[in-house]
Amino acid sequence: MSRARYDVAIVGAGIVGVAVAREAVREGLSVGLVDEGPVGGGTTSAGMGHVVAVGTSAAELTLARYSRELWATLGPSLPSEAGFRPIGTVWVGRTAEDRALLDRTRASLSAAGVASRPLSAEEVTREEPGLAAGGVGGLLVPGDFAVHAPAVARHLVASLSEGGRLQLLPSRAEALDDRGVRLASGGRVEARYVVNATGVRLSSLSPEVPVVPRKGQLVLLGRGAALARHQVAEVGYLSSVRSSDPLSMAFNVQPQTDGSLLVGASRQNGTSDPSVEPAVIDALVRRTREFLPGAAGLPVVGARAGLRPASPDHLPWIGPDRSGVWVAGGLEGLGITASLGAGRLLVDQMLGRASSIPIAPYLPGRSRAPVAGG
Ligand SMILES: Cc1cc2nc3c(=O)[nH]c(=O)nc-3n(C[C@H](O)[C@H](O)[C@H](O)COP(=O)(O)OP(=O)(O)OC[C@H]3O[C@@H](n4cnc5c(N)ncnc54)[C@H](O)[C@@H]3O)c2cc1C
Repeated sequence: MSRARYDVAIVGAGIVGVAVAREAVREGLSVGLVDEGPVGGGTTSAGMGHVVAVGTSAAELTLARYSRELWATLGPSLPSEAGFRPIGTVWVGRTAEDRALLDRTRASLSAAGVASRPLSAEEVTREEPGLAAGGVGGLLVPGDFAVHAPAVARHLVASLSEGGRLQLLPSRAEALDDRGVRLASGGRVEARYVVNATGVRLSSLSPEVPVVPRKGQLVLLGRGAALARHQVAEVGYLSSVRSSDPLSMAFNVQPQTDGSLLVGASRQNGTSDPSVEPAVIDALVRRTREFLPGAAGLPVVGARAGLRPASPDHLPWIGPDRSGVWVAGGLEGLGITASLGAGRLLVDQMLGRASSIPIAPYLPGRSRAPVAGG
């Protein structure tokens, strides 16, 4: 049986595992990164790449804000294929309920130290002329970014490997313990710290840490980028995030650098089928046209689906699980945004170092509640 030895063995080369690897290497630790598939090829390849300061709880928003600051530092050093760019977000509303949600969102952003500016209906039209008239106003969050997360993961793995501190180990992990990883190939990776960052499959290697899939689908519309200047999303998206309905949908678009428009996003509970469903794609396109009439007639040039890794209370798991294995996961629909923060917080804990934000809300020990309903 072959054996390899590192300071840190990480299973999962999605954006979260790679963020942990980056932090570990920054601290001078050697890393063995195990993945059975391509780097960034899991849920990370399906994500929209909106690095956004939002949260359905103060703890989720605090992590998003903290992580967004880390993206602001890393982003300018990324290669152009990473698509990192300041995009800003315009949240829009159409009902009285939305109006109240816009106000609450502004208050919670302000409490978390995130700058935003309320927009009247006229100001929304000035910022986003492509939107249909009839809205109740909006909120501009100028500090949000867009990024192509799989390219970031690939770039970081390549540069950390070149530096000689990281080795990519293409293999399936079968079991983890506090001293290493057993591989399906029969080999073993020994390490002082073992990290489970396997996204939606986290619970299969750490059964004490519940993660369930929340499916999401996106559509790419050709020649649509000119319809939006920022990332534009309906504020109702923020309530759909916690919906337990089998299917919910919220208007959310991101202009792409190649001239296309990335359109989201659906949320589905109770399914782990990763395939694109034409009926959901049609519904997303219809909803987009309600908000952006100019989208009518644009060709659908692509679609993709992925499984968001969700915890029962919608907060991530960052810390040690019961078996002494470290976990970083359950970041659901904010995994790209929160990846850098999760990586920093996990390595802080490994090294016994104080973190910049309180870590208690993310610790795996906070709850052993059974997974509710998917
Ligand atoms: C439609 C959609 C839109 C989204 N939009 C956004 C967005 O705009 N902003 C945002 O912040 N987030 C967004 N997200 C969420 C984000 O994409 C995820 O939270 C994030 O990508 C999860 O990353 P991860 O590294 O935890 O998991 P993954 O990317 O799935 O990585 C896990 C890796 O582990 C590997 N693996 C699993 N089991 C094993 C094993 N036993 N052995 C070896 N390897 C294994 C897999 O091959 C995979 O590469 C979106 C998600 C979806 C689906």
